[in-house]
Amino acid sequence: MRTKQTLPIQGFEIESIATPGIFHPVMGQFLLLGSVCLFLPFLASGHMIHYRSADPSASLLNSQARGPTTSNISDIFVGRCEEHVQCLQQDQCNTNTTLRGTCDQLWGTFVDAFAYKDPCQAGNDDYDAVIAAAMPHANKDESLFWSGLPKLALNNGRVTGRYTILEETLPGYIANGLTWCGQTGAPGINYNTPCPSAYSSGCANETMYTFWRAASRAFARQATGTISVALDGSRTNPPAFRNTSTFATNELPNLNTAAVTHVNILLVYDISVKGDNRRALCDKGSIKDLQTLLTDRGFTYTCIEGPRGFKFLQCAGDPDNARCVEACSFAVIPNASIALVLAASLLIKLVTGVRN
Ligand code: NAD
Repeated sequence: MRTKQTLPIQGFEIESIATPGIFHPVMGQFLLLGSVCLFLPFLASGHMIHYRSADPSASLLNSQARGPTTSNISDIFVGRCEEHVQCLQQDQCNTNTTLRGTCDQLWGTFVDAFAYKDPCQAGNDDYDAVIAAAMPHANKDESLFWSGLPKLALNNGRVTGRYTILEETLPGYIANGLTWCGQTGAPGINYNTPCPSAYSSGCANETMYTFWRAASRAFARQATGTISVALDGSRTNPPAFRNTSTFATNELPNLNTAAVTHVNILLVYDISVKGDNRRALCDKGSIKDLQTLLTDRGFTYTCIEGPRGFKFLQCAGDPDNARCVEACSFAVIPNASIALVLAASLLIKLVTGVRN
């Protein structure tokens, strides 16, 4: 469904580059790290990665402080829908869209789910028709769930093209970063006062979170093969795996045990955290709890502490960070010597080839 665009940053596809047989594993890693270091200034200055100026996932970080319904929401909703369906953004392509009907009809179905309703009294199935008309889809082995890392997970998916998160699928792409809520009086949509949050007392059945729960359930149900989950390994409160998270309560329970073969836990460490940022470990605490849940459901799992693709992505945005600088100064010297050795052996081969 989703066509993968090749970006000129091979360094992010770490495992495939450092595969024994293609490169010597150690040499491959030096080359890889070196190339990422060499590319960092370009990455940071935006010459090689095009980040959209208004990253919709950014607002997630402040999602508890809400405004009223996003102004012009119908235009944004329909525009994003067309963008996704027609593949107008080069890195968000769907060659076979999951949309049933038109984008205007989808907006109508969406409005019906919340307009003229109390925003704290949403029914669990209010958005089922929306999700049925715009099913999330990811290819086999590419579904990536996240908890606590919205921006990083989204950018990692976009840069590597290796994973798909809910926010890249049709319903997630349309709704991410938007705010909406209804009101019982005309015009049915509240454009004037802050929409209530599910965290406010008496608003457990809040309309936006009801949508995200429905989308998350559908995203989990469609996942096949190896799935991945990226967790914030640098936080302690809440722990990396929070058993009340959407991932724990809506996604994990809806994975199809017959279709999902393996779970890949990615413990991502935040490079901006001072001191020891490796606060969660694969064999301790909340990650152990997650592993028990996975085993109980019959899934096998692997767990990676500090997956380097996520680290390089953070370094691209913060190249002067000591954690990135250390990695580069360590890598560039051997990388330079390896390049010299390779160049010398190529020259010798050329010369001997000419003589023969
Ligand atoms: P998380 O704790 O990082 O929360 C992600 C978002 O969901 C935050 O905006 C948070 O405020 C909201 N949220 C989480 N629990 C909530 C609750 N009980 N009541 C109201 N809002 C709540 O990670 P998570 O909860 O595991 O959710 C992440 C997973 O669920 C991802 O796979 C993601 O695709 C999906 N999701 C996405 C969004 C979104 O706005 N893009 C929102 C919810 C869930």
